[in-house]
Amino acid sequence: MLIHRVDGQMRKDAYYHRELNKVAILAPYLYPQLTDNSTLNKNYGLFYVIGHEMFHSVVNQEWAEKSSAFNNGLSCLISHYERTCGLYGEGSCNSGNQTFREDGADLEGLRNNYEFLAKNYNEEELNEFVHKSDSLTVNRRQALFYLFGIDWCYSIKKIDNHTNVHSPPQVRVNGVVTQMPEFSQAFSCSPGQAMFTDKEQTCNLFGPDSK
Ligand SMILES: [Zn+2]
Repeated sequence: MLIHRVDGQMRKDAYYHRELNKVAILAPYLYPQLTDNSTLNKNYGLFYVIGHEMFHSVVNQEWAEKSSAFNNGLSCLISHYERTCGLYGEGSCNSGNQTFREDGADLEGLRNNYEFLAKNYNEEELNEFVHKSDSLTVNRRQALFYLFGIDWCYSIKKIDNHTNVHSPPQVRVNGVVTQMPEFSQAFSCSPGQAMFTDKEQTCNLFGPDSK
C-alpha cells in the first residue's frame, strides 16, 4: 500500500483518479473507529467505499457509448434518480443526468458489498441479530443497510445540488435501497409499499440482466 500526503483540505474519504486509473483511500478512513466493524466481522463500510470508487472506472459516458446494454441500464438509472429526487429531495434537487456517475457507483458499490456479505454468511447467520435493544433489533443483513444509511447522515445544507455531481444524501440512500430487492427482503417490504422493489423493477448496468 502506498500512502501519499494529500495537500489542502480534503473533504473526501476516497476518490478515483481517472488518468492513473487508481483508487485512493485516505488514511483516516482506514481506522476502524471511523468505519464500523462492530456488528459485522469484516469492515463493510470501507469495502463499500472501495467498491464505489472502483465502479467510477466503468460507470461513465464512454461505457454508455460503447455498450447498448449499459446505455439502457443507464437510462433506467437516470429516470429512477429523477423520480427519487422528486420523492425525497428537499429543496433543489438535480439528480439524474448530472449525477449518474455517482449514483451508478453508489448502487453498484452497495450491490457488490451485499453480494460479499451474502457469501460470507449462511442464511441463518444473515438473519442472526447483531443488535438488540428495547426499541430496535437489527439482524446481520439489515446491519449492512444501516451502515450505508448512517454514512450519509449529515446536514443536507452542505450540498449545493445545482452543480454537485453527487445526489443529496437522502436521495443517495433512498435511490440505492429502492433498487435492491435485498433491502425489501431484509426489512420485509411488501408490494405497494414505498421502499419495495423486485428484480423486474431494477436497473441493471452490468451482467446478464442488463439488456
Ligand atoms: Zn464517487
